[in-house]
Amino acid sequence: MNADLHCHSTVSDGLLSPTEVVRRAHANGVELLALTDHDEVGGLDEACAAAQELGLGFVPGVEISVSFAGETVHIVGLGIDHTDPVLLAGLAQVRGGRDARAVRMGEELARVGIRGALEGARRLAGNPALVSRSHFARFLVGSGVMPDVKTVFDHYLVRGKPGFVEHEWARLEVAVGWIRAAGGIAVVAHPARYRLSRADMERLFDRFQAAGGEAVEVVSGAHTPDEAARFASEARRRGLLASRASDFHGEKESPVDLGRCNPLPPDLIPVWSRLPH
Ligand code: AMP
Ligand code: MN
Ligand code: MN
Ligand code: MN
Repeated sequence: MNADLHCHSTVSDGLLSPTEVVRRAHANGVELLALTDHDEVGGLDEACAAAQELGLGFVPGVEISVSFAGETVHIVGLGIDHTDPVLLAGLAQVRGGRDARAVRMGEELARVGIRGALEGARRLAGNPALVSRSHFARFLVGSGVMPDVKTVFDHYLVRGKPGFVEHEWARLEVAVGWIRAAGGIAVVAHPARYRLSRADMERLFDRFQAAGGEAVEVVSGAHTPDEAARFASEARRRGLLASRASDFHGEKESPVDLGRCNPLPPDLIPVWSRLPH
């Protein structure tokens, strides 16, 4: 099964519309796709309709921003009812903090001589409620400050660098609760990307599972093969379901295209075995 259960559209910080994401996934041989925009479900109806037209299996999803031990952690929800009022109110609350954060990011960049970043990021954002660091990064590339988005994140927008603004996202248990209220399965996204101590990583998974979280992205576009092996062991040890996900944002920005991740180790239980498809 070519499942790709985490990617983005212009409804958050992806570069393709929901329909274009679905068409690209289908052309790449994806058989089961989840669209998981950051803190937002506004692209799911369009993506679902496009998938139906192509006969492509589609899973409604979302990627929720969470603050944990001083780090931002992402929790993906799969198979959600994206009309659920508890989930919708929660996501609206998470998105609500983004605008003030963007204003402060613009101010911080202005202090190091980069003008017009807020306006630039807003222009690049397809969804005014979802101005993200990706849009700031693209503005810095477009204005010639940095050669590419990856280099931007090495020099700006991360803790300790200009343009970074501390932000309080959702609480872990609360975000998992919203996903479960909406009938979905909660997944720890790209765990190798978090700068957490061993002990904090243990606490993250302990609290995630205690809250009813059930799966982890083992194979991710953001993981090396070694990192995938590490979290495959974690999935075995903890009895977690395993997910496979490109985290595709766009051709020029993403190391792995839709549907082009490595397969899951065959002994793991794929999360899609528990999803209607
Ligand atoms: P935000 O939710 O506004 O904090 O933006 C987070 C997004 O920025 C992530 O979902 C990625 O798409 C992007 N991002 C974060 N760190 C990096 C990085 N090192 N390289 C490229 N993109 C990144
Ligand atoms: Mn993103
Ligand atoms: Mn993420
Ligand atoms: Mn993502």
